[in-house]
Amino acid sequence: MRKAGLFKVGYSSTLSWSRNGQPAGSISYRIESDERMVLAWRYREHDSNDDWQDAEQVISLSTSPCNYGGVRHWLHCPSCTRRGDVLYMTDSGFYCRKCCRLNYQSQREGKADRAYTRRNKLHDKLYGEDQRRMWNSTRQRLEWEYLNAEEEAILAMSNVLDKLSGGTQWRDKYRG
Ligand SMILES: [Zn+2]
Repeated sequence: MRKAGLFKVGYSSTLSWSRNGQPAGSISYRIESDERMVLAWRYREHDSNDDWQDAEQVISLSTSPCNYGGVRHWLHCPSCTRRGDVLYMTDSGFYCRKCCRLNYQSQREGKADRAYTRRNKLHDKLYGEDQRRMWNSTRQRLEWEYLNAEEEAILAMSNVLDKLSGGTQWRDKYRG
């Protein structure tokens, strides 16, 4: 994407993908001006019986000078307008990593955060500096709760990571 040609006004390109040998989606982009790129994509939710869903999104572009001459191109997140060089595909469009997390992972992250908080509290109680004396049966129960909280936290976090890494990093897909 950093090759100047890909940002030339009027440039367009399309990428398609398939699932089980059936066309499952495609995305195209075109550079309308130095400040404006349009992404248009269509996809099928699950399989080839599903209807095509069409979507379009305008991405703002900007440039900054490079140390060694030429310019560096930036994409601006449609949500927070922060500039970056990668946007991630989500169910409702392309956004920066930060916004993807906030918009789409908040529920799961909340779950993970709560599980980690519980795990840390239990950890302090069991192994922390001011451990109180406790009955063996209490310790056993807390240890069991601790393991559960830890497992839950890890599960919730791995969902978050799955979702994030499952996002299409389109800069890579367009290369070459
Ligand atoms: Zn953003």
